[in-house]
Amino acid sequence: MTENIVITYRQVPINAPPAFSKVVTPDLFSSIKMKAVDVLFKKAQDGADWSGFCYENDFTETGEVVIDIKWVQEHIYEPSNKNILKIYLHECAHRLLPDMSHNAVFFALNLLLFLRADKHSKNLFHTMNLYDIQDETDIPKCLDWAYQIAHKYVDSNKTAEECAEIFSTQYTEWCTWIDGADARAATTRKKWLDLHERVRDLLLQRWMFLVVGCLLGLLIRTLIV
Ligand SMILES: [Zn+2]
Repeated sequence: MTENIVITYRQVPINAPPAFSKVVTPDLFSSIKMKAVDVLFKKAQDGADWSGFCYENDFTETGEVVIDIKWVQEHIYEPSNKNILKIYLHECAHRLLPDMSHNAVFFALNLLLFLRADKHSKNLFHTMNLYDIQDETDIPKCLDWAYQIAHKYVDSNKTAEECAEIFSTQYTEWCTWIDGADARAATTRKKWLDLHERVRDLLLQRWMFLVVGCLLGLLIRTLIV
């Protein structure tokens, strides 16, 4: 920046790049049951380590997500439908879950979108990986939860926006339940130990009654004889 010079930009609608409009279509939004999210194409610096990103809503003009324009331009390679959808839907999942990182809810919603978009890009969900759930500590357990809830709702009539709300609520409930798992296990263990002790005492009492009964029987028999 030189003296008295600043830079600025103004967002103006333009025709979508053909590679983008070929795959992000009204039919796609109908399949994934989601309202379209605006896209801002930007040019990343050489060597930048991002394909797209999602600002916090307050930092956007229309809630748009950002995609590096190289993914829709022909340069070294032909733009790939799968890559474009993968980046766009990943960022859309962030837009629908503004308070979530790459956690189980994000993974579940991302998976739901990918599964619903399957007819537009076969096996799109194969492109998901642990990056999409990297902020969880217990990844196996969270993957299991995310996989199950995504499959439960994938064929439902719920919109993607509704699924985002449902997943968020159920995640909070699930986390609370998981947090109480140790306490529940300790309570169950104590119950079993108490029961075991009661049964043992009962058996001991019965043996004592038996022995005393036999002794009394013998004594009475001896006295009578
Ligand atoms: Zn992300």
